[in-house]
Amino acid sequence: MKLADLHADIAFDLLEHKEDKTRFETEHLPKLKAGEVAYCSIANYYDGSQTLEQMKEMMDHALEMIENSDVELLKTAEDFKSKTGVFMTVEGMCGVKDNPAEWVQFMKDHHVLIASLCWNEANALAKGAKGIADYGLTDLGREVIALMEEKNILLDVSHVSDDAFYDIMKVATKPVFATHSNARALCNAPRNLKDDQIDMIGKTGGLIGMNGFVNFISTEKDKQDAEHLAQHARYIADRIGVEHVALGFDFMDYFADGDGKMAKGLESAAHAQNMVEALRHYFTEKEVELICYQNVVNFFVNHL
Ligand SMILES: [Zn+2]
Repeated sequence: MKLADLHADIAFDLLEHKEDKTRFETEHLPKLKAGEVAYCSIANYYDGSQTLEQMKEMMDHALEMIENSDVELLKTAEDFKSKTGVFMTVEGMCGVKDNPAEWVQFMKDHHVLIASLCWNEANALAKGAKGIADYGLTDLGREVIALMEEKNILLDVSHVSDDAFYDIMKVATKPVFATHSNARALCNAPRNLKDDQIDMIGKTGGLIGMNGFVNFISTEKDKQDAEHLAQHARYIADRIGVEHVALGFDFMDYFADGDGKMAKGLESAAHAQNMVEALRHYFTEKEVELICYQNVVNFFVNHL
């Protein structure tokens, strides 16, 4: 079955291997193909250390690599209706200290569809899940959200702290995504969503992508597998409806320190079909199809 992955740190990896111009086609595309990942986020992941120039360099490089491949870059509703391919996302905006309009326009020009204000750190816009600061969302963060909404770039809350989450929900007027977060009720990790947070995202009309990182699935080692990730999907679907559930695997196999971080059965994008099998234990075939790709496609067709 076709799959849509709302979060893959591929742009970060491509810049890490900048000298290797074949990296996208030799490392990533074969795995996406093997796992039938037909729609894949190319996340420009910024861990808090990057300057604005370095952030821009990653996005320029990612687009160049996509353009030099035979993969389609999905930008519009029409693209999602008629093609498969990859789409640009941003994870964290640590280098943005001022001039938010220029930055948001840069993202728009680089066809970014979804973006988060911070990774785990506290930056000038918002506080991440592991950040230390006496604020959730800053005035600059509020400005960025308003500008993103104006340009129709979706907001991703997967990495924000709880106080930033509630601040964001007070000002966001468009659908909000959590591209790669699970249910905190099933696995108590600060990167997972509390019940009321799940409900609030559902009310905005946004999507929640199921994350295959071991520590977000279960605190018990023998439950860190695709089967138990499917239980997170069931839990969230029971709260807000299956039409808000998607996949955001967060594969890390291509990172030097990636060993042992992914769930059993979900070691890389090449293994992604195992998630389909696991979902079938909890959902009807029609619902599995919605979670696997149709919710994402429907969303972009209706909102871009
Ligand atoms: Zn992440």
